[in-house]
Amino acid sequence: MALDLRKYVASIPDFPEKGIIYRDILPLMADGKAFKQVTDELVDYAKNKHVDMVVGPEARGFIVGCPVASALGVGFAPARKKGKLPRPAISSSYELEYGSATLQMENDAIKPGQRVLAVDDLLATGGTISATIDMVERMGGVVVGCAFIIELKDLHGRDKLKNYDVKALLEY
Ligand code: 5GP
Repeated sequence: MALDLRKYVASIPDFPEKGIIYRDILPLMADGKAFKQVTDELVDYAKNKHVDMVVGPEARGFIVGCPVASALGVGFAPARKKGKLPRPAISSSYELEYGSATLQMENDAIKPGQRVLAVDDLLATGGTISATIDMVERMGGVVVGCAFIIELKDLHGRDKLKNYDVKALLEY
């Protein structure tokens, strides 16, 4: 029987700052059955999309994306925080509440025409996944879906993803 995944997400008030409720997925990751169910549900979403590559941003996008890529039998390409990649990379920056952040991918991580599933643990404002998508598309990839465990509805990240198919397993 399917588990209620919501029970495995911890809600932490006032983290990282006052007024914010942080949704912590580590309890979900720590439970083998719950983690497998997350992977199975995301794989189920992706399985008819003929995905060639899964892409996920550092760091929890790796945790969620790698088992999905493995189950689909396709590769995984990371979008890393700036300055971590040893080979030539492309960059994409996005605005944070205070300042900005930059993600990078190796500039041959995606081949032109490859069908890409973009994955992260959580969709908030959509800045992180949009920067990831931007790099995939500049390399000629085709984003066939964006998949998350959690979507924070009040932050309207979906508005930035109007041109894409978006899946979230849980909404808050
Ligand atoms: P966005 O760029 O959509 O505003 O924020 C999403 C990114 O920030 C994701 O990479 C996610 O890991 C992280 N993030 C923002 N808020 C939370 C949260 O409440 N819980 C978790 N687990 N990650 C968050």
